[in-house]
Amino acid sequence: MMEWLTQLLLVLLLMKFSNTLPDVIRIGGLFHPADDKQEIAFRYAVEKINSDRMILPRSKLSAQIEKMSPQDSFHASKKVCHLLRSGVAAIFGPQSAHTASHVQSICDTMEIPHLETRWDYRLRRESCLVNLYPHPTTLSKAYVDLVKAWGWKSFTIIYENNEGLVRLQELLKAHGPYEFPITVRQLGESSDYRPLLKQIKNSAESHIVLDCSTERIYDVLKQAQQIGMMSDYHSYLITSLDLHGVDLEEFKYGGTNITAFRLVDPDGPEVRKVVREWNLSEAKNKKGEISSIIRDNNTFVKAETALMYDAVHLFAKALHDLDTSQQIDIKPLSCDAVDTWPHGYSLINYMKIVEMRGLTGVIKFDHQGFRSDFVLDIIELSKEGLKKIGTWNSTEGVNFTRTYGEAYTQIVEIIQNKTFVVTTILSSPYVMRKEASEKLTGNAQFEGYAVDLIHEISRVLGFNYTIRLAPDGRYGSLNRETKEWDGMIRELLDQKADLAIADLTITYDREQAVDFTMPFMNLGISILYRKPIKQPPNLFSFLSPLSLDVWIYMATAYLGVSVLLFILARFTPYEWQNPHPCNPNPDHLENQFTLFNCMWFAIGSLMQQGCDFLPKAVSTRMVAGMWWFFTLIMISSYTANLAAFLTVERMDSPIESADDLAKQTKIKYGALRGGSTAAFFRDSNFSTYQRMWSFMESQRPSAFTASNVEGVERVVKGRGNYAFLMESTSIEYVIERNCELTQVGGMLDSKGYGIAMPPNSPFRTAISGAILKLQEEGKLHILKTRWWKEKRGGGACRDETTKTSSTANELGLANVGGVFVVLMGGMGVACVIAVCEFVWKSRKVAVEERSSLCAEMATELRFALRCQGSTKPIRKKGRSCNAPTGVDDGRFHPLGSYTSYGFVSKEPIN
Ligand code: GLU
Repeated sequence: MMEWLTQLLLVLLLMKFSNTLPDVIRIGGLFHPADDKQEIAFRYAVEKINSDRMILPRSKLSAQIEKMSPQDSFHASKKVCHLLRSGVAAIFGPQSAHTASHVQSICDTMEIPHLETRWDYRLRRESCLVNLYPHPTTLSKAYVDLVKAWGWKSFTIIYENNEGLVRLQELLKAHGPYEFPITVRQLGESSDYRPLLKQIKNSAESHIVLDCSTERIYDVLKQAQQIGMMSDYHSYLITSLDLHGVDLEEFKYGGTNITAFRLVDPDGPEVRKVVREWNLSEAKNKKGEISSIIRDNNTFVKAETALMYDAVHLFAKALHDLDTSQQIDIKPLSCDAVDTWPHGYSLINYMKIVEMRGLTGVIKFDHQGFRSDFVLDIIELSKEGLKKIGTWNSTEGVNFTRTYGEAYTQIVEIIQNKTFVVTTILSSPYVMRKEASEKLTGNAQFEGYAVDLIHEISRVLGFNYTIRLAPDGRYGSLNRETKEWDGMIRELLDQKADLAIADLTITYDREQAVDFTMPFMNLGISILYRKPIKQPPNLFSFLSPLSLDVWIYMATAYLGVSVLLFILARFTPYEWQNPHPCNPNPDHLENQFTLFNCMWFAIGSLMQQGCDFLPKAVSTRMVAGMWWFFTLIMISSYTANLAAFLTVERMDSPIESADDLAKQTKIKYGALRGGSTAAFFRDSNFSTYQRMWSFMESQRPSAFTASNVEGVERVVKGRGNYAFLMESTSIEYVIERNCELTQVGGMLDSKGYGIAMPPNSPFRTAISGAILKLQEEGKLHILKTRWWKEKRGGGACRDETTKTSSTANELGLANVGGVFVVLMGGMGVACVIAVCEFVWKSRKVAVEERSSLCAEMATELRFALRCQGSTKPIRKKGRSCNAPTGVDDGRFHPLGSYTSYGFVSKEPIN
């Protein structure tokens, strides 16, 4: 009751403040026979306004409908004049561009508001036209934003007519000259689009922008499906705002990404209500026939239809607003006269400042009279039909409302029903043929790291797979002339396979062509070469701890110190001693540091042995002290280094790094043809690698190999004349089994192996996620250990390594032989000197005794060979007190007054 009273009060108030509009306001609608929905929307909007007393309280709208052919502009003009003669306040429609321009020019002349709801790029400001359809430039910007948000690098535009190109001009403009080229193709007149679609398919394009009338969308998509262009890797952006009106049932399960914008949300409560009601009124108009539309609860509404409904409301609202400010009368106008409607422009201006909500969202115009602030829904086809995944508006651009989790779950669901074709090549230990007595078929034929990896991933995500070998057995390289890929990459691009799993390196070129998951293994390029040959130990290896220079410096220091000691000892008075301590007044003094004694002293200290006389003066002691310090350090350093030199095996390797390889030409080297290793050298800017690439290219026969196996064979057979540039993981596998080979130097780069898939694959994230999971669970490590160290002869070289390391500490004669040689040499020299001494002394005695040398030598020899006792009589010439026996040792010649001839006992003589 209260509500009713308030409404009545409001109406009365409005009546009071509003001026007098005519009771019946005629509005003209121009429709084509096929536009029955437009007409229904128009009629229904009029009914709705008439029943709502709030909008036009005292007047009623009356719909004057004229039908005409979309091509017939002459009749269109006649119909408009007819409507004007009956006194209309506005004209709505028509939808066809041919007729609309005529209608508009008449309306402009007569200053009658003309309301349009169609896409029209010839929008003129300052005219009597109000178009509720979003402005073409703004709409085009929405397409640009979406394509940018997706990160499409290249795409093909399929358009139907020139209007399509205008619609997409912003998209064409946004694509920079340095980006990948975009292709623009026109749909022909014929209804067979297959030849065109096939060409697009052959160009390996998977991103398509389709601009055609809503009626043709189904046919285009259907034919695309027939030729295999509706796979998981294809994405379609459809420019029509009415995609929700197309039957997409057949494409729901294909996995193709079909996206479009829409202006009207058919599931919005207001739209549902309105559409149901106008369907009902349509059924009533058909006199009792209950329309099937109502039974189906079909709420499909085209954007243009909804806009027509909104246009009538916009007109009514503006008319009402204008009514509050001026007296309006509507009069019939004749096309033949120069009469105009004086309120026409005012009404148009009111329409442009009105702000209201309609079926197509907020209806608002900018200062130029174009529709602004509207929001478009982004819709995508899923298994459940078209789903809203985000919105677009001119200020914020694209805003995806679907969360990452939702998108991921959707992908995982799709994956679960899939059987992927996995392309690979035979490469140990990634994929190998299984050794079995019976004939194996299907996936069972293969084993290896990559086979286990895909098995584990399939368990995580729940898909099936079929392994197929790439026909050319190659990884995939781009032919720079033909711009075509080969190997596994080609298989993916041709969509003959969904995944490529092998030791396939992620490279920049490949990443441009296909999609890669995150790496499942990290590696780098290194050199495979034969093991260095063991050097036979050096006989004089005991000299190795010190370099030749140090030995020379030591010998010089030894001589220098000996001479200095000799000079200082002669110089200092404290080294001059009484030769006979029992004689307090000796007639001469003696210095024990003869040059020979100095050398003996120095060598005794150097050998850590000492000698039986020592310096007494401070200066000579200083020399001795410093020399001892020097020998202490030198001998300790020598000893410490000696252990290492004697125990470590000396290996002879002509190359130790890539630099060594590059510097020489004797050892040839190469890499796998068409692989990422060869590409690394080809594309490198580093001078060493450029030189290596030129060298490899210049080799005849070619230094490149067809497979890694061939490379390994060439290294083995080359016996040191061939090195193979290979990936570290493969080297690791080879040297674990072939003990003759080894990795030389470190890694030249760092990269990874990834699983490749066709461009635009929706499964990349899910498969990357599965790889991460396996990595975190340690499964990848287990697989690596299994295939590198355990299976197929793994660990063969491990025993050898342990053996060599345990025997490394034992020193053979070869290691220390030199010391024996020195000993023997020393003994020999000693014997020779002894003979010389013997002869020399015998000759002296023989002279003194005036006997023959031979007789004297015979006597002495007889005595020496008798080998009895250690005493020998002295033949004296004179004797002094306590004088030591005249041993000719170079030290004691106290008086020089006696002659001894023979070796003397150390025992005192009685
Ligand atoms: N893994 C390399 C590739 O994907 C092949 C081996 C190589 O080039 O060393 O191309």
